[in-house]
Amino acid sequence: MSFFWNSIATKHRKIMHNKKCSVEHCFRCMGKLQLMDEDVKSSVSFYQCTNCQSHYTLTVNKKLHDRWLMPITLVIYGVIFDKNPALRAVAIAQEFYLRDDIDLEKMITDIEQELEAPRQNLVDIFTFSYPNEAKLRVFLRQFIVELKRIKAHARN
Ligand SMILES: [Zn+2]
Repeated sequence: MSFFWNSIATKHRKIMHNKKCSVEHCFRCMGKLQLMDEDVKSSVSFYQCTNCQSHYTLTVNKKLHDRWLMPITLVIYGVIFDKNPALRAVAIAQEFYLRDDIDLEKMITDIEQELEAPRQNLVDIFTFSYPNEAKLRVFLRQFIVELKRIKAHARN
């Protein structure tokens, strides 16, 4: 029993430690992050930027990353089971272009910023069948090229 409580206490201390060390500012606007919710049992806490409303997740021993439903998470969700995510880039770009609930400009900006200056580990966002940070980034780059191509083509 005491082991159980000690382990909860250790986890909680780790969360507190992470909060102090890595949860400071929003990736996008450097705004202050506000703790929204936490699950001490699974050592996960959720934050929101007080300035631009971006949502973040922090799991103990992992880096802060975008919370589910942020644009990047929606795109890479489509390749959780793919050995070669890049092969799906065209199809997934077409899929998102046809959706009317997505702000494509915001999606492009978010992804381009992450590719230019990586701030998070994409492999931390989901449990990928074939986790590979480099492959996910190649996929996102191709996704953006394709999405922009479709948009430009549709304008003509
Ligand atoms: Zn922000």
